[in-house]
Amino acid sequence: MSGSISQTTNETIFTKIINKEIPADILYEDELALAFSDINPQAPIHFLVIPKKPITTINAIQEEDKALLGHLYWVAANLAEKHGFAKDGYRAVMNCNENGGQTVYHIHLHVLAGKAMGWPPY
Ligand code: 5GP
Repeated sequence: MSGSISQTTNETIFTKIINKEIPADILYEDELALAFSDINPQAPIHFLVIPKKPITTINAIQEEDKALLGHLYWVAANLAEKHGFAKDGYRAVMNCNENGGQTVYHIHLHVLAGKAMGWPPY
């Protein structure tokens, strides 16, 4: 099931996690996506859902990636159900570029749960 991605461009720490070159607390994996706990959690539950394809930012999403982006949300919703926080609710967001607070340039859906989130998020 797990594909190995090895390329010289667009590589981030997340490519190493996908390729199992560095450890992560993996919650879900299929041929398209990987979900793992965030190393610096911002809520009682905080994990990331990433595509195995190394898309740098939301701005780099291509038409061919539309289903893949939906897949990330589908994975998030399934994990929310599996881990019992779907009904209480959660936040699932992607940061984009500097003003969005993005630090890793491989798109990732943050899934935050286990407490009531504030809004606006600053
Ligand atoms: P961003 O700021 O780009 O939206 O989010 C990047 C996230 O990746 C941060 O929440 C950060 O804690 C997480 N992160 C960065 N490096 C690692 C790592 O090596 N392992 C894991 N599990 N999470 C990481």
